Amino acid sequence: MKNFYLLTLAFTLLIFGCNTPSSSEKDVLITEQLVVASETTIKGQRLSLVANQPIKNVIFMIGDGTGIAQLYSGQLQEVGPDGYLHAQRLPITGIVKTHAQDDLITDSASGATAFSCGIKTYNGVIAQDSEGNECVTLMELAQQAGMSTGLVATSGVTHATPASFATHIDSRNKYSEIAEQLVESKVDIILGGGLEYFIPSDSAGSNRDDQLNLLPSLTEQGYSVVLDRQAMMEEDSDQIVGLFSPSGMPSENRIPSLAEMTGKAVESLSSNDNGFFLMVEGSQIDWGGHANETPYVVREVKDFDDAIGVVLTFAEQNPGTLVIVTADHETGGMTINGVNQENNVVDIAWTSTGHTGTPIPLMAYGPYAVEFSGWWDNTDIGKKVADLLGFENFPLILSQED
Ligand SMILES: [Zn+2]
Repeated sequence: MKNFYLLTLAFTLLIFGCNTPSSSEKDVLITEQLVVASETTIKGQRLSLVANQPIKNVIFMIGDGTGIAQLYSGQLQEVGPDGYLHAQRLPITGIVKTHAQDDLITDSASGATAFSCGIKTYNGVIAQDSEGNECVTLMELAQQAGMSTGLVATSGVTHATPASFATHIDSRNKYSEIAEQLVESKVDIILGGGLEYFIPSDSAGSNRDDQLNLLPSLTEQGYSVVLDRQAMMEEDSDQIVGLFSPSGMPSENRIPSLAEMTGKAVESLSSNDNGFFLMVEGSQIDWGGHANETPYVVREVKDFDDAIGVVLTFAEQNPGTLVIVTADHETGGMTINGVNQENNVVDIAWTSTGHTGTPIPLMAYGPYAVEFSGWWDNTDIGKKVADLLGFENFPLILSQED
């Protein structure tokens, strides 16, 4: 009898709870449309599990603001419902919970610090705990282990996600100081936008409020500085900073593409026999989400996916390479609604212009990839990578006196 009552209650909730949204709930939905590809494309062979062996290289790829709906929208438009993106070829999938220390909804600084340091912190904080103590990042431990390191992003390189792997500061908005820290970071390859914080305030396009010119400082540190695609392609130094736009890189006609920057980074970093740690961010999937612009999101998913293709090719040819593709959080509360069967147009609905708390997908390939299967907290991902690379003493918080 009790069971029957519960069943009736469940049905009532199902019928009235799901089918009668209030008008105010309806009002917040923003709907856009997406045209589904008529031809199916498979971007490559689905990859198999590989035998475990010591991990030499880690390529950690973050699609900022990339939930399942963002990836699936990219799939629908790019390769059709039956196709597969590169992101969907990795054999292991996991799900990652993303909350920050002070908020169920994370920002990119706290989200990336969870990966880079294996700790929860406040939103807006870059590789520090909530008390202002620095945490040691995976990238810094990789450097100590003699590995080469790289950061590639389509935002400015001083943006929260790349910054959280190589700098430490109490606010993600202190871009000028983050740029100064990047100069000293000893990260071998840094590619993306963000020239505005490396040039003095009287230079065109500068966003600094002082006269510091960090480009000569980079050269003094041993970097070759490149400012366009051709110079990047021709540069054979193993320490390169490439700054290809004042702020975030253009979304349309992006030159170089994320795939080209990623290919250059992998080519350069792989000359180190001790291996490398590379972080690649598809930064602007998040920006398309904030704008509730489906075409922006889909374009950015394609750019990110092309870079995943480059990475998977490298990983197949270099079997000690662990590839992780994930996100810091979902942006926009994006979902896939109805489809018009006649013209293959899908309605996309957006429920927010901010980040959401929806857990995000993770895909993995390479030795020990299977370790990432299942539900995890975002901090667990950083801890697992540290463990697999043999970095003991992680997470590691330095007290302010250290
Ligand atoms: Zn965002």
